[in-house]
Amino acid sequence: MKIYNTLTKQKEEFKSIRDKEVGIYTCGPTVYWFAHIGNMRTYLFEDFLKRVLIYNGYKVKHVMNITDVGHLTSDSDEGEDKLEKGARKERKTVWEIAQFYADFFRKDLQSLNIIDPTVWVRATDTILEQIDLIKEMEKKGFTYTTSDGVYFDTSKLEKYGKLWGDSERTEMKGRIEEVKEKRNKADFALWKFSPKDEKRQMEWPSPWGVGFPGWHTECVVMSVNNLGVPFDIHCGGIDHVFIHHTNEIAQVDAVYNKPMANYWMHGEFLNLKEGKMSKSSGNIVTLETLREKGVSPLAYRYLCLNTHYRTKLFFSDESLEFAETSLGKLYEKTVELSKSEKTEHGKKYEEYRKNFLDFINDDLNIPSALALTWDMLKDKEITDSEKYDLLIDFDKVFGLKLASIKSEDVSESKYIIKTEKDGIPVWTSDISIVPEEIMKLVEIRNETRKNKEWDKADEARKQIEEKGWQVEDSGEKTVIKKK
Ligand code: AMP
Ligand code: ZN
Repeated sequence: MKIYNTLTKQKEEFKSIRDKEVGIYTCGPTVYWFAHIGNMRTYLFEDFLKRVLIYNGYKVKHVMNITDVGHLTSDSDEGEDKLEKGARKERKTVWEIAQFYADFFRKDLQSLNIIDPTVWVRATDTILEQIDLIKEMEKKGFTYTTSDGVYFDTSKLEKYGKLWGDSERTEMKGRIEEVKEKRNKADFALWKFSPKDEKRQMEWPSPWGVGFPGWHTECVVMSVNNLGVPFDIHCGGIDHVFIHHTNEIAQVDAVYNKPMANYWMHGEFLNLKEGKMSKSSGNIVTLETLREKGVSPLAYRYLCLNTHYRTKLFFSDESLEFAETSLGKLYEKTVELSKSEKTEHGKKYEEYRKNFLDFINDDLNIPSALALTWDMLKDKEITDSEKYDLLIDFDKVFGLKLASIKSEDVSESKYIIKTEKDGIPVWTSDISIVPEEIMKLVEIRNETRKNKEWDKADEARKQIEEKGWQVEDSGEKTVIKKK
């Protein structure tokens, strides 16, 4: 299997350190507000990667952190701690804020059918280990102290910025601001002192003074302590290449003098037409926003499956609607095929599996794997049963819950009710789940249609729609669903 490695700027054959086992670290959320669908795109890409590895027979150990301290409002060690600021805004304790948004985040992952990490770690649970790591850097001569904290001296490294290509080097000149007392522009804080005039809610004693750790140190501790050095794959959003991941690597270089991870993978951003989506600017769309519009989180998952993870994705209502319609069709097709009689798998079946594997193993080319799936569904040379089995097999990577769709035997009933439970479609003949007034209108519509009273039938249909439901015909049956 080939993946694109930001470290070498090329696609490389993936070789795990241990046979058939992979260690992955993914930078987790900073829990001071809701995660937006841009953040979710990154977690989805990491889930696709994990599923592709599992599909290839690897056992995956996945570590994800929860950043509940130390992430400042500016990446260059200035500004406030995002958590402390969030807590003040909501008049809650920092601990309450962190717990609330971390719980909410996990629910969001579940609703997108993202496989849970093997290990969750909270930054505040590793403060002592972070202090130990800083002591190691100090012992080796990589640190200095200023009036506001302990800093890493990047000039002491043989090579700083191992992840950078030309664009990052150019950005470097413009973005990192000069901070007073820093020896070099790129130096970064390992430990920040609590401000003298302000009592922080989260602060700890340390050999250098009371304060809190820098954001880049926590990820080193949480990844390396759980996965070893080097580990296999480190992931995150593309924005982390420039500073956060660069500074993680710098610390590992200093302390271990070994590569931190063999492969670095970065997901491209999801942007709004109006520009960047970011928690700090408040310009965000969350899964809750989509739910309010009646869109299932799995439709968003489909949208992300359909765009390669290294391609920018511009979010629009139209693209989401297209994803939702396609997913709906896929669900209908799955239900239809699930009723087919079982047949043996033939040569063509194996061919499809091979082509599927070739696509996903080519740096997660899932959009092509999805297109292959649609071609397969149209193929007259394989049986319905083979199609169903392929769908269920491919869904191990897609994660659209195709195997969970419930379809009762509706053959005896005049009505098919399409509904949803936990984001998964259910086809049933149970009319008790449709409000009585809607059922009455459906009967009026059917009756008047039979009598060719089109105006009256149309009027009934309109009223059904105004009340948030939809009605259509499928052969002899009436299909009723929520809009
Ligand atoms: P944060 O909670 O801000 O630390 O971000 C969590 C993850 O989401 C990181 O891996 C970021 O790189 C990623 N991320 C932030 N904004 C976006 C975006 N608009 N599109 C895709 N990923 C993003
Ligand atoms: Zn990180």
